Amino acid sequence: MKIVSVTANLLNTPIPEELRVESGAGLKLMRQMCLVRIETDSGLVGFGSPSGPYDLAVLGRIVEHVIGPHLIGEELSEHSRLWNHVYVGEVTRNLGTRGVGVAALSGVDMALWDLRGKAAGLPLYELLGGLYHAKGVRTYASSIYWKLTPDQAAEEARSWIDRGFTAVKLKVGREPRKDAERVLAIREAIGPDNDLLVDGNQALSRTDALAMLPVLEQAGVYWFEEPIDIDDIEGHAMLRAARRSVRIATGENHYTASGFLPFVQADAIDVLQADVSRAGGITEVNKIQAMARAHHLQWNPHTFNDILTVVSNLHLVAASPHPAMFEWDVTYNELMTHLTTEPIEVVDGLLHPPTGNGLGIEIDEDFVAEHVWAGERSIGTGAGMRV
Ligand SMILES: [Mg+2]
Repeated sequence: MKIVSVTANLLNTPIPEELRVESGAGLKLMRQMCLVRIETDSGLVGFGSPSGPYDLAVLGRIVEHVIGPHLIGEELSEHSRLWNHVYVGEVTRNLGTRGVGVAALSGVDMALWDLRGKAAGLPLYELLGGLYHAKGVRTYASSIYWKLTPDQAAEEARSWIDRGFTAVKLKVGREPRKDAERVLAIREAIGPDNDLLVDGNQALSRTDALAMLPVLEQAGVYWFEEPIDIDDIEGHAMLRAARRSVRIATGENHYTASGFLPFVQADAIDVLQADVSRAGGITEVNKIQAMARAHHLQWNPHTFNDILTVVSNLHLVAASPHPAMFEWDVTYNELMTHLTTEPIEVVDGLLHPPTGNGLGIEIDEDFVAEHVWAGERSIGTGAGMRV
């Protein structure tokens, strides 16, 4: 089966002002995606999504004009060789081993896996080893944002538990003293049997992160995500050495197994959050989760931007032996709710990967046509964020 075309649709969906959320990652004004579409001479079409705060036009250009020409005319069965050819030939030499080039390759890799599942007549999780979490993948509500008072945050956390979730995540990092109040209020509201996670989006200093550990442990927090600058490996190691129970998590801004390896080697990480839509695709994240496993660490992907990203991560998680703690965006996001013809829903805090062939989702082409991003200047998925 030969690849005959590689194209990208750029999509933009604004967020109504009253529903915008703010964290250490910034204020979100819109949700955007680059929908990768790979066609074969058999008529099968695969879809992928490189997600993250990248300039959308740059992503589309890399997909169509840098990676695409390496794939067109090639056999789908040579997927692994094609990944390596693009990574070595374009990413390491021209685009850089972090950021938009790896992300673009990630979206292309997802579409190739979608095609392989469709060609085999199997859901993707079957190609990745079969269902490990047969009863469903445990999922957490992401997230409770900065603007809420401790009482409001506690009320919102409780509302997600009442809707069936058994874990919720809180954004921290703007006012460390207020964060402590919110953490304790949420623990009180959700009781001892549900999990609470916190995410700093790199907004804390080493000192503030270290000072926050006792209250996080008092509240039995499950993980402390992106507490500090992602380049500060020593700082992560310091936090990990200082903590007694809370896991140190990072990875939504890390790329490839080589990007995670220094954290593993420095004993600086408990939870590797490699995301298939950024860190190198399913092909590379499969290696990262194996590396985590070999070092007795945990892999729980970041997954946020759109339903294609989420379902791609979900297939790999469903087939993986790591304990599941799967991110589910509960903020306003039309790319989660309207991109596919069939909704995907969390039931009793659990998700099941679609059972159709490949990724198992049908793209709603009317929605795509209605949300084409045609701005003369692409503003990127993260351009609405204050940094
Ligand atoms: Mg995060």
